[in-house]
Amino acid sequence: MFAGKVAVITGSTSGIGLGIAKVLAQRGCNIMLNGFGAPEEIEKVRKSVSDLKVKVAYSGADMSKPTEIRQLVQQAEKELGAVDILVNNAGIQFTSPVESFPDEKWEQILAINLSSNFYLAKAVLPNMQKKHWGRIINIASAHGLVASVHKSAYVAAKHGVVGFTKVLALENADKGITANSICPGWVLTPLVQKQIDAIAAQKNISDAEARAELVGAKQPLKEFATPEQIGELVAFLASDTAKSITGSSYSIDGGWTAQ
Ligand code: NAD
Repeated sequence: MFAGKVAVITGSTSGIGLGIAKVLAQRGCNIMLNGFGAPEEIEKVRKSVSDLKVKVAYSGADMSKPTEIRQLVQQAEKELGAVDILVNNAGIQFTSPVESFPDEKWEQILAINLSSNFYLAKAVLPNMQKKHWGRIINIASAHGLVASVHKSAYVAAKHGVVGFTKVLALENADKGITANSICPGWVLTPLVQKQIDAIAAQKNISDAEARAELVGAKQPLKEFATPEQIGELVAFLASDTAKSITGSSYSIDGGWTAQ
C-alpha cells in the first residue's frame, strides 16, 4: 500500500509509536524511528521493524529541542528520502494540581507534546508541497477534547494539537496534503503503566484492580485500545481512500468522550 514511501514517527521506541511504525512497515513504508531508550533496547526495536523488509533509520532527537528536530528531518531525507507521512506521536505526562505544578514540567510538556508538532510539520511541509502529496497525523488524546483534573499541561497541549492540526489542514487543503489528529482513550503503554502503579500504591490494590479502576473511571467500554489499533487508524488516514478527510479528529476511546 505504501511501498517506497517514507514515514517519520516520533516517540516510536515504545508504546503507540512503535505500534504505528510496525503497521506502516507491514504496508511497505520505510521508517524513521525516534525516541529514547538503552542502546540495546533501541537495536531490538530497530530489528523488529527492519525484519518487516523495509528500510529503517533511527534518530535520538529530543522533541523538546527544535535544532534536533530539524536534524532528524535532514537525516530522514538523507537516509530514506523526502518525508511522505509524518506521525507526531512523542508525548509525556505529569500530574499535579495547577498551584503546585512545576514550571519546568509545564514547559517540557508544552514543548514535547505540542511545539514539536509545529517544528516537525514546518520542516517536512516544503517537500510535501513540492510533491503535492503528504499526510500529517498528530496523536492527540481524549484529553485533546475534554479535561481531567491534575493534567493541566497535558490537556492544554493536546487541545493545542487538535487546533494546530485544523490550521495545517486548511493551509494545505489544495496541496495534496491532509492533516488529522487521533484522540485515543486508554492504551496500555509504559506512559499509562506509571499511572496504574500510582493508583495501586495509593489505594493499596493489585495491578489488575488498578487497571480496572483507571479504565472504568472514564470509558464505558472497559478495555484498553492497543497500539496496533491506533496504527491501523493511522494507516487508513494515510491511505488514498482517506484523501478527502482533513482537519478532523478521530476518537478511539471506548466511548469516553461520547458522555
Ligand atoms: P510511551 O511512554 O510508551 O512512549 C512515548 C515515546 O516517546 C517513547 O518512545 C519515548 O522514548 C518518546 N519520548 C519521550 N520524550 C521524548 C522526547 N523528548 N523526545 C523524543 N522522544 C521522546 O507513551 P505512549 O502511551 O505510547 O504515548 C504516545 C503518545 O500517545 C503520546 O503523545 C501520548 O500523549 C498519546 N496518548 C497516549 C494514551 C495512552 O493511553 N497510552 C492515550 C492518549 C494519547
